[in-house]
Amino acid sequence: SDTAAPILETRDLTISFGGLVAVNGVDLRLARSEVMCIIGPNGAGKSTLFNLISGIYRPTRGQVLFDGQDITGKPVHRIAAIGIARTFQSSRLFNDLTLLDNVLIGMHTRTRSGVLDALLRPGRARAELDAAAERAEAILHGLSPALHARRNTLAGALPQADRRRLEIARALASEPKVIMLDEPSSGMDDRDTDALIGDVRRVMAEKPGLSFLIIEHDMRLVATLPDRVTVIDYGSKIAEGDYADIRVMPRVQEAYLGQ
Ligand code: ADP
Ligand code: MG
Repeated sequence: SDTAAPILETRDLTISFGGLVAVNGVDLRLARSEVMCIIGPNGAGKSTLFNLISGIYRPTRGQVLFDGQDITGKPVHRIAAIGIARTFQSSRLFNDLTLLDNVLIGMHTRTRSGVLDALLRPGRARAELDAAAERAEAILHGLSPALHARRNTLAGALPQADRRRLEIARALASEPKVIMLDEPSSGMDDRDTDALIGDVRRVMAEKPGLSFLIIEHDMRLVATLPDRVTVIDYGSKIAEGDYADIRVMPRVQEAYLGQ
């Protein structure tokens, strides 16, 4: 594939719910190894944009391209298998499973016979499961040695900040080329957010070529982490560029005034 071409692109991406145009003609180009933050007021259409890219919603109009290939309207599991992983705004961990099993479940989009299969039929795909468990441990350790130390405890017992990090580990387990995080710092204090920034930077260093699309409201993160920032308001892209440039744009400031 052409390494200069964007890994992820949306063209005129649009969805209406009844009379509401939640995402309106959005053009995005995410480069390989790029970190892009998506910002905008509540209800602007940011999460809906993620739902369109990950196949949860089918667009009314427009296209999603991954590595130059049209993936518009493909089912969620196909899009996950192709290399787009995500987290959700609200936590979707399995509270009654261990941290390690939560990461293992994130891997099942990539493992041939399926980690879930192996978990359900012990003995049958034992070797595959052992190899997967080893990789899950490595992913967890790579993101956070502290989480790794707790790998056999239940996810339900984790504090909020660690839950968000475990979700990132689970998304990484599918070996994605693009990882989309929906408000990863929600429920975090400044110290947690600094740790999150460190986590993302560590993952970037370990996985060259991996791209991030991050919906964020914490301006400390938005000011320091991404290569570029895209601003969405009322479903439309209203600005794009360096944080220092977009933050002083009148249109961007107006979008936040009503907040
Ligand atoms: P953000 O993530 O930027 O806060 P959302 O993408 O969640 O905003 O929502 C954008 C708009 O789309 C909101 O007005 C929301 O109510 C609406 N919306 C999202 N999903 C649906 C749906 N399935 N049906 C109807 N309206 C929806
Ligand atoms: Mg949202």
